[in-house]
Amino acid sequence: MPGFTIDHPSGKNSLILDEAPQNISRKMVIDLGMASLQSIGSEHICKVCISNSGSCCSGCRHLSDRVGCQLRNTSCTAWLCGFIKYVLYETGYLQEWNDFWEQVPGQDFREDYTPDTFLIQKNLRIPSMRSLSEALAADLQELAQTHIAIGFILTLREKLDKNIDQFMYYNNEPGKQARIRKRIEFLSLPFDRFHLALHDFMEKRGALTDEKDGLSS
Ligand code: SF4
Ligand code: SF4
Repeated sequence: MPGFTIDHPSGKNSLILDEAPQNISRKMVIDLGMASLQSIGSEHICKVCISNSGSCCSGCRHLSDRVGCQLRNTSCTAWLCGFIKYVLYETGYLQEWNDFWEQVPGQDFREDYTPDTFLIQKNLRIPSMRSLSEALAADLQELAQTHIAIGFILTLREKLDKNIDQFMYYNNEPGKQARIRKRIEFLSLPFDRFHLALHDFMEKRGALTDEKDGLSS
């Protein structure tokens, strides 16, 4: 959800936890989630979404005009809309995100009952992918301007959300997953800038993995 305040000019997720399992505080989990959203670059996408009346905070009693969220909680930090989910789906970090937040108890709608401290088994490490979100935001902006239908990009957001959830749900059924993947590919056809940025991102990630493998062999 938009309106976060942690400032990481490098765009890197600088909040790295010790190796899990470990005890973690509710505040640390929220800070880590916010830093991860910063690494994803979600604010670029939120800006376009909000200017097209798509804010997911709309109508929330904790939203203060021109200030943002007044009651940041674990639930809203963990929640992903279709656009942000799509970025993590394409980069291969969605499962890690889901696994991390599944460990956090007490999540509710726009509030939480998360204890002050609790045990986690899995960590969350999201690399900087801000250029991807910037590219997707530019694609969405163009789509919103060129489609006459009101709310075109918001409908697209919901379709991406539904299909990606289905894709994750059928993780033991490759045939079904392949069909859903095709639908997601179709929905994302207009994301030209995003696909170019994704290609660069994956190439760099592949080069880094090769480098690490070379060092460890
Ligand atoms: S729905 Fe997604 S893109 Fe829109 S404001 Fe919320 S988090 Fe941002
Ligand atoms: S509590 Fe309300 S204002 Fe805050 S992030 Fe959640 S929906 Fe948005």
